[in-house]
Amino acid sequence: QVPLKPGRSLMDWIRLTKSGKDLTGLKGKLIEVTEDELAKHNKKEDCWICIRGFVYNVTPYMEYHPGGEDELMKAAGTDGTDLFDQVHRWVNYESMLKECLVGRMAVKPIAAPKEISSTLSEEKKQLNGMLPEKKVLGASAKDITPSYDWFQTESLITIVVYTKQKDMNAELVIVDCQDKRLRGEIIVGDHSYLVEIDLDHAVQEDLTVNIAEKVGKVEIILKKKDKTHWKMLGQPLEGHNTFIRQVDRGLFYRKCKLVSKTEVTHDTKLFCLLLPKSTHLQIPTGQHIYLKQIIAGTEIVKPYTPVLPFLPLDFKEPSCPDGAHIYLMIKIYSCGLFTQALDHLQIGDYISVSNPEGNLKKSKVQTAEELFLLAAGTGFTPMVKLLNFALTEVSCLRAVKLIFFNKTEEDILWRNRLEQLALKDERFEVHFILSQPTKDWAGRQGKISSSLLSEFVKRSRKDSKVLICICGPTPFTEQGVQYLKDLGYSLEEIHAFTA
Ligand code: FAD
Ligand code: NAD
Repeated sequence: QVPLKPGRSLMDWIRLTKSGKDLTGLKGKLIEVTEDELAKHNKKEDCWICIRGFVYNVTPYMEYHPGGEDELMKAAGTDGTDLFDQVHRWVNYESMLKECLVGRMAVKPIAAPKEISSTLSEEKKQLNGMLPEKKVLGASAKDITPSYDWFQTESLITIVVYTKQKDMNAELVIVDCQDKRLRGEIIVGDHSYLVEIDLDHAVQEDLTVNIAEKVGKVEIILKKKDKTHWKMLGQPLEGHNTFIRQVDRGLFYRKCKLVSKTEVTHDTKLFCLLLPKSTHLQIPTGQHIYLKQIIAGTEIVKPYTPVLPFLPLDFKEPSCPDGAHIYLMIKIYSCGLFTQALDHLQIGDYISVSNPEGNLKKSKVQTAEELFLLAAGTGFTPMVKLLNFALTEVSCLRAVKLIFFNKTEEDILWRNRLEQLALKDERFEVHFILSQPTKDWAGRQGKISSSLLSEFVKRSRKDSKVLICICGPTPFTEQGVQYLKDLGYSLEEIHAFTA
C-alpha cells in the first residue's frame, strides 16, 4: 500500500465515478479492442488494462489505486488478469471500474481446439485475455475428479458426492441452498468440485451435511417441501460438475444476519453474524472471509478473520463450534469507509459473507513444538483460533508465546483473558509491547525490531520444531519477516498472514 494524496480515497473515487464525467474518453461508447490496440495504451496518461476479457481505461483511477501507480502500470496495455488475481482477486473491479469500461477484447478466431490439459497443475490457459469457459481435465485427472449421484425417499433428497479423497472433513464442504438453487463446493487439495443445480422442486430451509471422512463420501440431505416424487434433480447451473483450481472459482457470498455487536475496546467491536439455516460453512483456523457491502452504490469488499466468541481458558476438549455463528473482531476507523458502514449496521440487518480463503498449512501447526505468535493491533485476530487449536489439538506442543504489539494499553484486545490464560496454562506466555505508552506503563515499549525479536523469539532447544506466525499492518509483517530471516529462521518456519 502507498499513501494516497488527499482527495484520493476510495470514497473520492466513488464520487468521481458518480459525477457523470466521461472516464473512458469514448463518450459512453463500448468498443471491441484488439491486442494491438490494447498494447498502444501503455502510458500513465493513456493506460488500458484487460481483466478477464474486459478492457478498462485506468488512467483516471491511477491516483486512487491503494497499491500505487507503479503497480497498476505493470499491466499497462496488456492482460492483467493474472497479476490482478495474485494481488487482489477479491476486489470487485467490475463495480469499482464500471465507468472506466472501454469494451471487450475482440476474440481471435480459433482454428482448432487446443490440446486438453492432462495434469491438474497445468497453468491456466487464456484466450486473448478471456479464461476458457470450463477447464476440461484429461484422462489421468478423471481418476481423481469427484463425481455425484442422488436419490430420494418420500420426504428427502440426498445428493452424494464421491470425492475420492480420504481425509475429508466438514471444513472442506460448503453448501448453500437459496431459492431452489443448490450450491455444494467441495475442496479437494487445491481444487474445488462444484455441484450447482436449480432444483426441480422447493425444499425446506434447513439442510444436513454428512461426511464419511475415511472414504471421502459427502452427503447433502435436503428436506422436500411437498412429498412429491421428483422426476429429476433439477437443471445444472453454470459451474455444475466442474473440478477446477480453487483460486479460479469465484467467491460465493451468502447473506448473514447481524445478531450482536459488543465492545471489545474503545474502537474495536465483536460482531456476531448468523449463517442462514440453508448454509453449511465452517471457517478453518488461519483463514479469512470477505464481507461485502454496497456503499454509495458501489460494491466494496474487505477481508476479516473470524475469531471465537471468547478466548477459552480450558483446552482439554476441542472446542466445538456451533457452526451457525461467525464472530468477527473489527476495529472501527473514524474515517474508514467500510468499518464506518459496518458500525452503522443495526441488529437484524444482513451483510454478505464469502467463502473462506487462506494458506496456513495446518500440518505446520500440528507438528510444531514451539509456537511464536507476533501480532500487531487487529493482527491478533488470526492468532485467536490458532492459539486455541494449538493448545487443544497439538500434542507435541511445548510452548506458545504471544508477542502482542499495540499503540497503548487501551488498545490491547482481550488483555484480561490472555493474562488469565498465561496464569492457567504453563505452556502459554504473553508479552505486551506498546509503541505509544503513557508514562505509567512499566512494560516493554517500542516497535518490532531485530533486537526485540532476538530476545523474545528463541528456540528452547537446538533441534526444536518452531513455527512463527506474524500478522499486523503490512510494514510490521514485512519488517518482522525480514528480521526473522536475518536471525536465521527459514521461510518454512515463518507464516505471514496476508490477504
Ligand atoms: P479505509 O477506508 O480503507 O481506511 C481509512 C483509514 O483507516 C486509513 O486512512 C487508515 O488511517 C486507517 N486504516 C485503514 N485500513 C488500515 C490498515 N489496514 N492498517 C492501518 N490503518 C488502516 N481488520 C479488522 O479489524 N479485523 C480483522 O479481523 C481483519 N482481518 C483482516 C484480514 C486480512 C487478510 C486483511 C488483509 C485485513 C484484515 N483486516 C481486519 C483489515 C480490514 O480488511 C480493513 O482494511 C479495515 O477494516 C479498514 O477498512 P476501512 O474501509 O474501514 O478503512
Ligand atoms: P495499529 O495502528 O493500532 O498498530 C498496532 C501496532 O502495530 C503498533 O503499536 C506498532 O507496534 C505496529 N505498527 C503499526 N504500524 C507500523 C509500521 N509502519 N511499522 C512497524 N510496526 C508498525 O494497528 P491496527 O490499526 O490494529 O491495524 C492492524 C493491521 O493488521 C491492519 O493493517 C490490518 O489490515 C492487519 N490485519 C491483517 C490480517 C491478515 O492479513 N490476515 C488480519 C487482521 C489484521
